[in-house]
Amino acid sequence: MKTILLFALSIPLAAIAAPEPLKEASQWIHGVPAGQACVQLLQVHQAGPGVFIIRQNKCVNTEAPFLYLILGEQKALLLDSGAKPDAGVDFPLVETVNRLIGERKLSLLVAHTHGHRDHIAFDYAFRARANTTVVGTTPDAVKTHFQFTQWPEGEAQVDLGGRKITVLPLPGHEAAHLAFYDPHSGTVFSGDSLYPGMLTVRDWPAYRQSIARLLKFAEAHPVTAFAGAHVEMMSKPYDMYPLDTAYQPQEHKLFLGLEHLRQLNDALTAQGEKPARIERADFIVEPYAPPSAGLVLGLMPWWKRRI
Ligand SMILES: [Zn+2]
Ligand SMILES: [Zn+2]
Repeated sequence: MKTILLFALSIPLAAIAAPEPLKEASQWIHGVPAGQACVQLLQVHQAGPGVFIIRQNKCVNTEAPFLYLILGEQKALLLDSGAKPDAGVDFPLVETVNRLIGERKLSLLVAHTHGHRDHIAFDYAFRARANTTVVGTTPDAVKTHFQFTQWPEGEAQVDLGGRKITVLPLPGHEAAHLAFYDPHSGTVFSGDSLYPGMLTVRDWPAYRQSIARLLKFAEAHPVTAFAGAHVEMMSKPYDMYPLDTAYQPQEHKLFLGLEHLRQLNDALTAQGEKPARIERADFIVEPYAPPSAGLVLGLMPWWKRRI
């Protein structure tokens, strides 16, 4: 009894505190019907203490990514810097982040789940911001910044001050893809590797291994949700909006759970080494075939256009 008590006391409080799950918005902005003006460019939702979710509206860019701002005591971490708005749209992302950070004296780290263009559009603007570091997007830049000693098997940490975020390599959708784990909320920010939509896979073996590693991590840590970067599925199981849809009134909710990661891992394990399309109620896996030389984007079928 005494031994057990001493053992329990030796565990830091933060390690045994149950995570406080994030709450997603009851309704996300999801575009406007054809012909209507795009008035609300973005939505800010406080999902939990120190965690804000910013969604770009579908009518700003049909990728409509979700960005995450996590505040610590010394540092703020912004995951992704958004997609490029249509020409002429003055998109207030930096101003929004400034407002959310407010009077707190925090440095800002802008990191990315990965370097596809719908996740890095405002890097240039953050580079001009004071007290801000923007992490590069190549595998070398990512490995160097986070000081990974092993890739892709290793882990790294970002200490925001009172909030340590674990960084996990997750190549497959893209070579430098990362997942970020926030132990306070039990959230895995999973970028384009796991979200309710079309999960395109460029490197099939790497993706299978990444998902297996992520599952191992998630089973060893308290995980309450997987928060990805897009929503493309409809609330009706198995149905998906075509990519580039500008108005999605019946979207799937944003967060997925551990059961979805298990489904994904089971499907990839069953499929084996041969890439194939996999359809489940809440996501679709699609091997990505790069366009052959000379094939212009406009001639590509819509399902191969996702980058
Ligand atoms: Zn991507
Ligand atoms: Zn994306």
